[in-house]
Amino acid sequence: MTGGERGGFEGLDACVHCGFCLQACPTFLATGDESDSPRGRIELMRGLERGDIAVTDPALVYHLDRCLGCRGCEPVCPSGVQYGHGLEAARSRITAAVGTPPLARLALWALTTPGISSVVYWFARGLRATGLPRLFAGWGRFRFSMGMLAATKPLRRVAFGVRRSHVPFNAARDTPHAVQIFRGCVMQGLFSHVHDATVRTLSVNGYDVRDVPGQVCCGALHAHAGLLDEARALARANVDAFGEGDEPIVVNSAGCGALMKEYGHLLHDVKAERFAARVRDVTELFAPSPVPGAPLDVHVAYDPPCHLLHAQRVAVPPLNLFAAIPLLELVSVPGAAECCGSAGLFTLLEPEMSRAVLAAKLERLREAAPQVVATGNPGCLMQLGAGLAAAGIHAHARHPVELLDDSYRAAGRYE
Ligand code: SF4
Ligand code: SF4
Repeated sequence: MTGGERGGFEGLDACVHCGFCLQACPTFLATGDESDSPRGRIELMRGLERGDIAVTDPALVYHLDRCLGCRGCEPVCPSGVQYGHGLEAARSRITAAVGTPPLARLALWALTTPGISSVVYWFARGLRATGLPRLFAGWGRFRFSMGMLAATKPLRRVAFGVRRSHVPFNAARDTPHAVQIFRGCVMQGLFSHVHDATVRTLSVNGYDVRDVPGQVCCGALHAHAGLLDEARALARANVDAFGEGDEPIVVNSAGCGALMKEYGHLLHDVKAERFAARVRDVTELFAPSPVPGAPLDVHVAYDPPCHLLHAQRVAVPPLNLFAAIPLLELVSVPGAAECCGSAGLFTLLEPEMSRAVLAAKLERLREAAPQVVATGNPGCLMQLGAGLAAAGIHAHARHPVELLDDSYRAAGRYE
């Protein structure tokens, strides 16, 4: 059981049906259907727990499948409903009864199984290097997936807007603080350049970043798919691998970080709670703000990942990171806090709803016309990058630490 005897359903008890959450829910905004809103889904989940609604009820499965799990409904809820825990419990029950869709199983197997995933990522990097995914990027299942792969390609160094200037170097601290880095699956397979940028920028800020052998996938994709036992097995392996030290565990993927901060809830033991307390998003480690870099004359739209903003409630540290880069201008985009429609495997399993949610965001980005859309999660980087390419919007999706890395390089902190 997760989170106590009722497995997480107790998180829904506080709902008083006020409806404040409706306008924060991207799927309700897309369809206007109460059953696609948090309040409507809570009623379905309560019915499931009571036994009034069968676990195989088509309406229940349909509307819960269409939930992004973005948790945008949580921070706006005055009653403190823990929607994410309830959803996890409901999905776990549904998965136990009806199984996992074959496409989700295939994706999990390909993206997270040691030995298999390294071959899949090797092949994907090879395809990416040909430049074909960029050429094929567009709408439709195949073309969108090509756009997603193209969005993982690192930009050439000193891409644009860089003004080289040697900023006087002050060591952030005399003795570097040790931190352990979590590498993950997709981040390691397709975004290793973001890991490299993370290590470099943290070292400028006085951290000694160490690798930890034996770490595995965080289990977030499994948990979102309702495979809680598999998520727990992965969580246990990570808790053991990272040991009982007190070094912070740095994560640069919001989805991974959100689940890892909840390992205590998932595993229900003290060791997992201690592990969870050590997990930090990379931007949190720069607190109160990173060492400044050289100017980047660039307009950036920050699109906070749901699992950073809503699940981890990390809002200010990424803004402090941007503020450490002179000339960088943050462009305000209405609705930036709403989900981009990526949501783990959602983009693959529910393409219609995923694209509907993305389309609203893309229109607002088109108007704001940034050069870069910054977001700290691999799924969001791929979804936004593919969407920008398909919509013909000339902006790059990049991780915030990549921008800091460019700024430090231009400041002469490293080559
Ligand atoms: S989840 Fe919260 S905001 Fe939404 S209807 Fe229930 S009490 Fe109101
Ligand atoms: S998790 Fe996101 S999509 Fe699901 S009900 Fe909450 S706000 Fe809506």
